[in-house]
Amino acid sequence: MVSDPGLEIRERFLHVKEQIADAAESSGRNAADVRLVVVSKAQPMFVMEAAVEAGIRVFGENYPEEGYEKIHHFRGVEGIEWHMIGHLQSRKARLVAESFQWLHSLDSLRLAEKLNIAVASLTASQKPLQVIIEMNVSGEESKFGWLAWNANQWGSLVPEIEQLGRFSHLRIRGLMTMPPYSEDPEQARPYFAKLRQLRDFLEGSVHDLKLPELSMGTSADFQSAVKEGATFVRVGQAILGSRPARRV
Ligand SMILES: *Cc1c(COP(=O)(O)O)cnc(C)c1O
Repeated sequence: MVSDPGLEIRERFLHVKEQIADAAESSGRNAADVRLVVVSKAQPMFVMEAAVEAGIRVFGENYPEEGYEKIHHFRGVEGIEWHMIGHLQSRKARLVAESFQWLHSLDSLRLAEKLNIAVASLTASQKPLQVIIEMNVSGEESKFGWLAWNANQWGSLVPEIEQLGRFSHLRIRGLMTMPPYSEDPEQARPYFAKLRQLRDFLEGSVHDLKLPELSMGTSADFQSAVKEGATFVRVGQAILGSRPARRV
């Protein structure tokens, strides 16, 4: 069988967009309020080429160097946008500040400090970094983000979130989470609902803080996330196909 990766990618891309629209409609939301980040980590360049050919412009990457290589390769493509979604070591803050438009995985004050310094030194033509704060609402030890599984202790998060708001070169835009893995997308819903409630709590507790973005939902559960208020879903394999083993 002859397969055209570009055609398959385009079909799956359109299908996921339809599923997002259906989930939005079923919960009384506007599909235009949900943006799709296509997660391309570990995908080789020929898959990237096919994705760009298929009309995809918003990509999510997990590893700064790999992302940088792709960003450089596609720098001439009109409207292309890059989101860093994986855990970021502080020493790589500059690389991300220079080349990505969004970071979904801010998980420490130290990283915020490094990013703030890096962004401050960018030229005026480089846009400010849009930042989303990662929250661990499940309590799983393997997850990054501020520990926020216990709603009775959300008040203790306030001082650090207030500090994040004071980094003048970062645009704090919302919250992100990764729920525990499950085959059943309904299992993830309580975690997505919790992230939304945490957002409401923090907006009510921190003066002048607005967190309009909720980054939640992957191939496994993006429809559940949309029903709970996601404004960004991060979908990889359902569009680009399974990932080859990570390059080293
Ligand atoms: C890999 C990854 C995704 C996408 O997962 P898929 O199963 O490919 O949809 C989303 N978010 C984060 C943080 C990831 O690391």
